[in-house]
Amino acid sequence: MFSDIIITKRAYELDRLFCYRVPRELEGEVAPGRRVLVPFGKGKKEEGIVISVYNESPDIKEVKDVLEVLDDYPVITETGFKLAKFIKEKYITTYFDALRLNMPSGLKTYIEEKVYLKDFDCEISDKDESIIRDTLLRYNGCSVKDLKEKTKVKSIYKILSDMEEKGIVTLKSDLKNSIKEKKRTMVKYVSDSENISIYKEKNKRRKTHIKALEFIEENRIVPVDLLKQMSGITKEGITILKNEGFLELFDEDVLRNPFADRSYNKDIEPELTVEQKKAVDEIINGKNREFLIHGVTGSGKTEVYMKVIEEMINCGKNAIVLVPEISLTPQMTERFIKRFKKGVAVLHSGLSKEERYDQMRLIRNGKINLVIGARSAIFAPVKNVGVIIVDEEHENSYKSDITPKYDTIEVAKERARIENAKLILASATPSVVSYYKAISGEYRLIELNNRINNMMPDVIVSDMRKELEDGNFSPVGSLLKEEIRKNIDNKEQTILFLNRRGYSTFVSCRSCGYVAKCPHCEVSLTYHKNGRLVCHYCGYEREMFPVCPDCGSKYIKYFGKGTEKVEEELKKEFPDAKILRMDADTTGKKFSHEKILKKFEEEKTDILLGTQMITKGLDFSNVTLSAVLAADGGLYLNDYRSLERTFSQITQVVGRAGRGEKKGRGIIQTYSPDHYVIELAKEGNYKKFYETEINLRKKMQFPPFCDIINIICRCEDKEYGKKLIKDTYNILVNYKNDLKLNDDDMRIYKPGFAPLSKIKNMYRLRVLMKVKNSENLKSVLEKVNVHYHKNYKTDKVMLSVDINPVNML
Ligand code: ADP
Ligand code: ZN
Ligand code: ZN
Repeated sequence: MFSDIIITKRAYELDRLFCYRVPRELEGEVAPGRRVLVPFGKGKKEEGIVISVYNESPDIKEVKDVLEVLDDYPVITETGFKLAKFIKEKYITTYFDALRLNMPSGLKTYIEEKVYLKDFDCEISDKDESIIRDTLLRYNGCSVKDLKEKTKVKSIYKILSDMEEKGIVTLKSDLKNSIKEKKRTMVKYVSDSENISIYKEKNKRRKTHIKALEFIEENRIVPVDLLKQMSGITKEGITILKNEGFLELFDEDVLRNPFADRSYNKDIEPELTVEQKKAVDEIINGKNREFLIHGVTGSGKTEVYMKVIEEMINCGKNAIVLVPEISLTPQMTERFIKRFKKGVAVLHSGLSKEERYDQMRLIRNGKINLVIGARSAIFAPVKNVGVIIVDEEHENSYKSDITPKYDTIEVAKERARIENAKLILASATPSVVSYYKAISGEYRLIELNNRINNMMPDVIVSDMRKELEDGNFSPVGSLLKEEIRKNIDNKEQTILFLNRRGYSTFVSCRSCGYVAKCPHCEVSLTYHKNGRLVCHYCGYEREMFPVCPDCGSKYIKYFGKGTEKVEEELKKEFPDAKILRMDADTTGKKFSHEKILKKFEEEKTDILLGTQMITKGLDFSNVTLSAVLAADGGLYLNDYRSLERTFSQITQVVGRAGRGEKKGRGIIQTYSPDHYVIELAKEGNYKKFYETEINLRKKMQFPPFCDIINIICRCEDKEYGKKLIKDTYNILVNYKNDLKLNDDDMRIYKPGFAPLSKIKNMYRLRVLMKVKNSENLKSVLEKVNVHYHKNYKTDKVMLSVDINPVNML
């Protein structure tokens, strides 16, 4: 038998498979998804992943043998392989990049090759060989890496392999798991009551032994440490009892679970409303497989998910729930853990490598019914999936921002298809693309039109132009001020949303117009309250300058107001209020999101001020006022999704208020009170917004009526990058001409710098196009990719393809 194998370490340089023979004794064990050790290059061994196994002998002269199988389970499941294939084809990536998504992280085994001297007194004439021998006389069994350092011998692998052939040394490779599985020793009672009585009788004075025996008789299986603690018995004592045949020792896996020791209130399962029941019934009993739930904020979508999951578990199936960002949805996670208890695995970005690995182990061992996590949880190796739920499906974070830039909804669809599972997309403001698909029958549309408490918040638009006329420059207008005051006095809570962190968005010289920019990125620096200028793209920091670096003027102007500045003004305005700020600067530490939200809830903090982190999924019954401080930010951006984003952001923020017994109020502060998006958001009229937007998209030819492709090239060397982007453009144009496509089929825009022309010292160039037919797209991207890999140094210039980017910058 033979097998095709991908070499993990070399997968980036060599995106190809290598053929190896499967020795008889490993047949059956070498199977797709298994990790193996194979000889590679001269005298080296590498880790690989088996892709396929077959009988026909390949057309290659020399085929080497697979040496060893590394794990006792496949690291990639059958579904994982299928998803990798899907991603490789759809997003034009290397095979390994696609596979890697489907492998549990933290698996890395590294191979350490050790050298042992076999023949201690051989004759050696070669200088390098004798240096090696002398070193080994002192450090026998040291690793090749250490040996290389100690001897400074060049091409050590070749020399060692010669020496191995001559029988002077042997090379042995040891595997090391970079993650240790945690174990603890357990004691098991072996029933032998007659002998135990005799022993007890004979050893009356050994009090600790008697105590230990009694304890173990009662509890049967306990951790060794507990037994020692409860009886005072020593390690030697336990050995004696073991030798008498009363006990057995064994190791048990301990799974690190950071959620295990949290205590939760009792779960109350509410009676579902008529709307909710109908939704559950349609999903479980309906013929459709793909659903879009359009449910207003607070309509009880989460309860619907839980009921569907429960039904699935009852018929032996499992579930995956995806959320935009796991640390921002602690309340939701908590609700799931309360309901489904130990069957829940949370794939949290704050988990340590070990914790994550352990969660994966639980999933693999079939101990888990429900996996919750951000987008990468779609690849979780959970078996027999009955339902996949994508909560807040309109969120940008479902689009991967690193290569491969997959769209989680597309991958979820594919997984649901592979496993014949139900797919539920849900949102209060579905993406225009998803809603279009629901309207045109691709998804079954389910609507939840009513809040559980039947009270949508009252929304007021506050005209900030009037504030300016009245000489009020504060980011908090007079109307909002009044409402916040009322809330503080009534001990009700307020949520304020501002999409800019830092103090002021940029600083500039009044005399000469100099703007402080990042030296590594083509963006302006943000001023922070600690007196530093920070780049929000690369993290570069510098001290604020006292005078203009260009002209020496003292007159520096601060533009734009970020969360720090607003926090300061709120403190001045409401000195008696407790205020919490939540943005990238206050949430750097592990589980800090959760801590801020807990504090907000438990200490009844008056105001929570934050960036988009606070717009998602929060459900606090005492929040009765929520406001968007500057709703204009997104209205005039040069991005086809900016209106959709503005509408959904306002709706989501307003939707945080009045979810409990008291009615909520929402305030939208804007300089464009007459803009139709603001008006529709105020009315909460999603359908009208959708109608307007879909007509616009049709007229302008934007998704869903075509795909937008952004091919981005990043390079330190401007000219080299320019050359690649020009080549790419020519390939596209030639393809279009060869197939006689018109502009409607494929529109290609002139290449040039991206709006963010430099990030982290890398120039960014791009070519944009709109394509209607996905087959054309696939083949032309294939050409682009092949050309790039063949003709360019892929470590010097990066080319990436983004299909329907969430960010056009
Ligand atoms: P959504 O996810 O649609 O925003 P949630 O599922 O968070 O809504 O529900 C909003 C609130 O209503 C939550 O506090 C939830 O516990 C409560 N809730 C949901 N369904 C019911 C029900 N059938 N009866 C009573 N309360 C409910
Ligand atoms: Zn100046
Ligand atoms: Zn920068």
